[in-house]
Amino acid sequence: MISPYDISMPVPKAELHLHIEGTLEPELAFALAARNGVELPYADTDALREAYRFQDLQSFLNLYYELMAVLRTERDFEDLADAYLARAAAQGVRHVEIFFDPQAHIARGVGMDTVVEGLWRALGRSRETHGVSTRLIMCFLRDESAGSALATLDAAKPYLDRITGVGLDSAEVGHPPAKFREVYEAAAALGLRRVAHAGEEGPPEYITEALDVLGVERIDHGLRCVEDPALVERLVRERVPLTLCPLSNVRLRTVDVLAGHPLPAMLDAGLMCTVNSDDPAYFGGYAGDNFDAVRDVLGLGAERLRELARNSFLASFLEDEEELRARYLSEVEAYDFG
Ligand SMILES: [Zn+2]
Repeated sequence: MISPYDISMPVPKAELHLHIEGTLEPELAFALAARNGVELPYADTDALREAYRFQDLQSFLNLYYELMAVLRTERDFEDLADAYLARAAAQGVRHVEIFFDPQAHIARGVGMDTVVEGLWRALGRSRETHGVSTRLIMCFLRDESAGSALATLDAAKPYLDRITGVGLDSAEVGHPPAKFREVYEAAAALGLRRVAHAGEEGPPEYITEALDVLGVERIDHGLRCVEDPALVERLVRERVPLTLCPLSNVRLRTVDVLAGHPLPAMLDAGLMCTVNSDDPAYFGGYAGDNFDAVRDVLGLGAERLRELARNSFLASFLEDEEELRARYLSEVEAYDFG
């Protein structure tokens, strides 16, 4: 951890790139395993933390899916979301758009109803309990088939009053956005917002394809756009938000060291960047820790940090609550970075 979560930068911010399954801390994993009679192949929380030393995206994903075995009941998903919301709130998160991966649960016999109802128990009362507004974004696993994604969208139809949009995650290379054209068209027809991971490990062309073929409104990660000046120019011109995750990039070796992260250059280029935590239990920090890291290691000053916080609310799906967005934005402008 860059710093303990309770003293990280509390500038008001929205978190737009957060996988709820990636908030499973070792302590909660063991508690849920005990509650559900699931045997974990780790002696204790220290041994499990040790397993969090990944080499790349795939080695992370292997552990990520293995640990999901402890999530069985509505109460498990409720506890998971509540624990995340408490930590996020302590780091200044005022609004979060949470990703979840129903296919990973359905494949092991945990239904869409359990996942959505369980998450909703925590999300539905989050403004009262945590002071955090929420949206839910259902992600398709891109290493599964397009047919499986369509079946997942179909299974979500009873819950569309609780689901704001769809996303695309998991192993990127070899699974271009165009594979999911049909399901994104169907999601758009249902009135769902659209985002997708692109340009994390995959090439800049995947970013273009996500915009042109899937019609996405935000790009998750998008880091590799810097390899294509024409694409950068387009993203700036069209004000396409990028949900960057600096600590995740270091842990998954997308960048060698944080000091080499292109975020400052991306901001200088005029890109609409936001800073997020991705899978904070696994990647060494929550949203405020990521803000601390880009301040301390990349030397971003108060106005750059304010820009990142402002962007997070501007890029959020708060169109049905513009008054709330305006209040959050005024809190950002009033924040004293000291
Ligand atoms: Zn992600």
